[in-house]
Amino acid sequence: MAEDLPRQRASIGGAPEIAPAAPLSPRPEQAEVEAALKVLIRWAGDDPDREGLLDTPARVARSYRELFQGYETDPRAYLERTFEEVGGYDELVVLRDIRFVSFCEHHMLPVLGRAHVGYLPTNRVVGISKLARVVHGFSRRLQIQEKLTAEIADTINDVLQPKGVGVVVEAEHHCMTLRGVNTPGASLSTSTFLGALREDPRTRQEFLGLVRGGRAP
Ligand SMILES: [Zn+2]
Repeated sequence: MAEDLPRQRASIGGAPEIAPAAPLSPRPEQAEVEAALKVLIRWAGDDPDREGLLDTPARVARSYRELFQGYETDPRAYLERTFEEVGGYDELVVLRDIRFVSFCEHHMLPVLGRAHVGYLPTNRVVGISKLARVVHGFSRRLQIQEKLTAEIADTINDVLQPKGVGVVVEAEHHCMTLRGVNTPGASLSTSTFLGALREDPRTRQEFLGLVRGGRAP
């Protein structure tokens, strides 16, 4: 949870810490993963050899590759193709309500939420779907929400070099809602503001107004 971990605020005056595109250690063989899953089934209290569970380890092993496909992507690459014919557009670009699925790195349980991503372009913009791809590239990994928020913002800042970036993430953590304090409906909000959105309260307010769905005053 938030209180345990230092916030990554690496983008102010230092090189952003972006997660590697590839996993740090080689992947085990599928058979090894299936054996581990059988142990987990026994740990839950069931018999992995009963009929209904026979194919479950193989199925879960395959689904993990899909759920954690963020490790196979480099979110920076999505932002490399930009459009410079923007007709002098120099206002905020905001994509809100990007729904995502992530997994908390402390309990490996789902984190379901939405991200709102905006930037103030200099002279180039990206295709809007690319902002969503950046969110999914970082969310489909073992994460904490604070780091996810900072990674999205730092990547956009680093690759696009806009005048400012704002990222707001709201999410429900199933490690809180299904177990532990059992608090369904509680959601955690995190935000990262860089450049003009950090320094200029009016620009930040305009971004937050757009995120809330209304025009800023
Ligand atoms: Zn957790």
